[in-house]
Amino acid sequence: NPLIDPVNPSHATFDLFVQAQSCKDVKHHFAELCKQLDINPKDFRSFYGKLKERLNYWKAKALWAKLDKRASHADYQQGKACTKNKCLVLGAGPCGLRVAIELSLLGAQVVVLEKREAFTRNNVLHLWPYTICDLRALGAKKFYGKFCTGSLDHISIRQLQLILLKVSLLLGVEVHTGVEFQGLIEPSGDSGWTANLQPRSHPASAFQFDVFISAGGGRFVPDGFKHKELRGKLAIGITANFINRNTAEEAQVAEISGVARIYNQKFFQDLLAQTGIDLENIVYYKDDTHYFVMTAKKKSLLKKGVIKQDYSNADELLAPVNVDREALHSYAHDAAHFSTGGKLPDLQFARSQSGQPDVAMFDFTCMHRAENASFVKERRGKKLLMALVGDCLVEPFWPLGTGIARGFLAAFDTAWMVRSWGMGIPHLKVLAERESVYQLLSQTTPENTSKNYAAYSIDPKTRYQRVNLSAIHSNQVRNQETTKSGSEELLKWCQNHTAGYANVHVKDFTHSWRSGLALCALIHHFRSHLIDMSALDESSAAHNFHLAFSILEKELGIQPVMSAADLANSSEIDKLSMVLYLTQVQKAFSSPAK
Ligand code: FAD
Repeated sequence: NPLIDPVNPSHATFDLFVQAQSCKDVKHHFAELCKQLDINPKDFRSFYGKLKERLNYWKAKALWAKLDKRASHADYQQGKACTKNKCLVLGAGPCGLRVAIELSLLGAQVVVLEKREAFTRNNVLHLWPYTICDLRALGAKKFYGKFCTGSLDHISIRQLQLILLKVSLLLGVEVHTGVEFQGLIEPSGDSGWTANLQPRSHPASAFQFDVFISAGGGRFVPDGFKHKELRGKLAIGITANFINRNTAEEAQVAEISGVARIYNQKFFQDLLAQTGIDLENIVYYKDDTHYFVMTAKKKSLLKKGVIKQDYSNADELLAPVNVDREALHSYAHDAAHFSTGGKLPDLQFARSQSGQPDVAMFDFTCMHRAENASFVKERRGKKLLMALVGDCLVEPFWPLGTGIARGFLAAFDTAWMVRSWGMGIPHLKVLAERESVYQLLSQTTPENTSKNYAAYSIDPKTRYQRVNLSAIHSNQVRNQETTKSGSEELLKWCQNHTAGYANVHVKDFTHSWRSGLALCALIHHFRSHLIDMSALDESSAAHNFHLAFSILEKELGIQPVMSAADLANSSEIDKLSMVLYLTQVQKAFSSPAK
């Protein structure tokens, strides 16, 4: 290659590394670069410094400038805050890699384990403004030139993983792919905490650590953590990716950044009338692929033959044997075609890793969230700090576009916790602080978090507007494992805070809420200035619900999970939807920020 500088082949290798478009290529070019520059990546402490010294190349220097700026933040104490800590991170998804970067900046030794060999998800994540700012500061634009050009605010999951993998490697994080974490091994003899891995003989089996972070995604929850199930009304998500040929014609088609049903009734009515497709919402992002995500109504899926047989249980309903793939493809194709006004010329499905058209159906009826974000285990005098980040902490509801934002917030909060741990703060205090911050997570929106994105750091105070790090006390985290069942606690909480209001008697999650007054009473209890109870009438349920929903949405950012009219007219309130909704209300009112 005439472009390769014979004196400095490492420059060309660096370029290949920066541009690599697969996990395998990133690792290959990285290994090559280390060889050419004679640096051992296992020397994590001096790795980045040596790389900077030996790779005297203008393109690399532009990247060092960015990374140096981040690393010089006072929070990291010149990379010395966690020099004694060894961290194992499970999962090289966006959140695992993002937290790994922060831990390495704090000076910890960081090992990431990923069971897959390839990054293959075409699906696209929405980015809140702060995440765009954060990723730019890590050099995202250098690794992926198209990163958030103009007003773009999204990225495919695989591109995001590639960017974060590259940054991780440059900062001395050890990333192993093709290795599965199967559990923790307790200390014995002189050995500290280690991991049980598949393959067994994997070199990372010997790694002893004092911090374990699970970023295993979805429902992967390691022992010791409990999950709450939040069951809402049936919500069926469909994602579809079509090939983007980047033609001028395609470039002109407008994105749809979330047309909620309430805002654009006509669009959805026309869609239903002309195609038989009935959606709650649809989003279209033009990214590496043309990506669509939509929430579809069960009735129309049954009618169009996508779902073969009706079941009340969502697992049975969406089981692969009950789904007609061809009909699903047509459904997704037609929804995409209609919602872009037929302007995307040749809608052909992109392929998934298995070579099939990249269309998938997901069940969002039941969302999971961990009860606690952190935990300490101690065996034979050896403490292990454990934490969850990303989807295994709180599952996001993609069609609402929370994207990766809360995942990254939790990654920063977790890094802040590890910092305190590394600085020798007593572990109950470390946990209490982490849980105090975790209380805020599900309520965060782009509106109620700080707008000073450039000042964001791992310190929660730079991001959350009103954070009280001691909202939860040390004695409350002492026995995190033994809390009551979620719904018992919730009912008690509702009863306590609605006691004494006329015509309000909370005994359950269904009947007691029928008139809408109980919900209004809850609001009045916490924010009496927002609602005039004396003006409300027990028989105007629709009005009461409408009022309560709009206040809770406007003031606390809680999206209604049901419509006021549906609630008022239905003979039976859906208990699980109510529990889901009230859980959010409880969180919001219990949050110290309010
Ligand atoms: P993930 O990205 O899920 O990463 C977890 C990683 O851990 C994976 O790479 C997994 O292989 C690895 N892992 C799990 N268990 C082990 C183990 N035992 N040992 C080693 N490694 C392990 N979000 C959207 O906003 N829009 C979408 O359209 C969308 N589509 C998605 C499609 C799929 C198939 C999936 C799985 C997720 C999708 N998401 C989507 C969610 C989105 O990917 C996550 O919110 C985001 O990637 C952050 O997740 P994370 O880093 O916590 O976990």
